[in-house]
Amino acid sequence: MILPRPSGASRTNRSGPNQTNRIGHSGSNRSGHKRINGIVILSEAPRISLPPHSPSSRPEAANLPPQWRDPRISLLLLLVLLLPVPATAQKSGSTSPVTGQTIYTLTQQFLNVAPKRFNGSPGHLAAENFIKDHFKPEAAKGNFETDQFTANTPAGPQTLRNYIVRFPGKKDGIIVLASHYETNFPLKDINFVGANDGACTTALLIQLGAYFRAHPPTGYSIWLVFDDGEESVSGTWSDADSLYGTRHLAAKWYADGTLAHVKAFLLADMIGDKDLNIDKDDQSTPWLEDLLAVAAKNTGHSGNIFKYPAQGLGDDHIPFKKRGVPVLDLIDIDYGPHTASTPDGYHHTAQDTIDKISPKSLQIAADLFLETIRLINQRP
Ligand SMILES: [Zn+2]
Repeated sequence: MILPRPSGASRTNRSGPNQTNRIGHSGSNRSGHKRINGIVILSEAPRISLPPHSPSSRPEAANLPPQWRDPRISLLLLLVLLLPVPATAQKSGSTSPVTGQTIYTLTQQFLNVAPKRFNGSPGHLAAENFIKDHFKPEAAKGNFETDQFTANTPAGPQTLRNYIVRFPGKKDGIIVLASHYETNFPLKDINFVGANDGACTTALLIQLGAYFRAHPPTGYSIWLVFDDGEESVSGTWSDADSLYGTRHLAAKWYADGTLAHVKAFLLADMIGDKDLNIDKDDQSTPWLEDLLAVAAKNTGHSGNIFKYPAQGLGDDHIPFKKRGVPVLDLIDIDYGPHTASTPDGYHHTAQDTIDKISPKSLQIAADLFLETIRLINQRP
């Protein structure tokens, strides 16, 4: 991913004069994380019928069956409505595979077997095997695809592989969840493991996959994309030297007609940061940004998104955006303290290690993805 640093020699991007360069902000003050106990703005939530004397009583209560107008029944209904909604059920649910802790633990396992995952390295192969090992049931059903291609990079041709995992739904259409899994080629000589940058989002997708295996989509199909070659190979980001995997896949899906069925492309990048603030991204599709805000409200995570003005973020969603797909990048680019020696914080440094991310942030990310998916499915 490219950071918005207009003055940066190697990472300039779209930041214009009206955009705020947030690099330099230190840790932010969190007031969020508060759950609203189910009294939330869920567009699908049944109407609550309150007792007649309640000032919140709504006119439509009069249309309810007589037995529902009983204040005691209404109270019961209210209690039922206070139970966690599906998207947040996994937060406390011991039966759900999607918890921040399981994602965190899986991130650690991924880092153990594939700490450095730059293109062409043994770690890159180990990362691929790690992903494949988690989707044997889908492979057995023909729902796991390897998309291998050769990228022409400044370091010569490189063999890269995207992985696509399909969870068929009931409605015609596809929601894609994507993350890159490799680490930077130009950082191959330092101990860069990308706990936040590539590893935890790979683990997030694997765990979301486990969720959809146990709870097959009832709306649109869900396709996971583990994409390769997100990072610049030369270290100097350019349109030609970045986003190799997603550029390849977007072109392929355009050619074979798949792209016309993609309702939304949701990207996860760098969202394990202990101090999580998901950025407002003016490259993402406005209605999806709006939906994310609703999802954050519904799950009690409004304090973890959109703290700063929108910025244009160069990331794996761009090739799909360019081909007309609605896209949403869930990313927190402000990662760790900014010092003279590390102006971008922990980003692309040997300090991007598992101790800098948290199960809590990964839980928030999982909640936001599941709720955003639910809201997309509700749209006409
Ligand atoms: Zn990166």
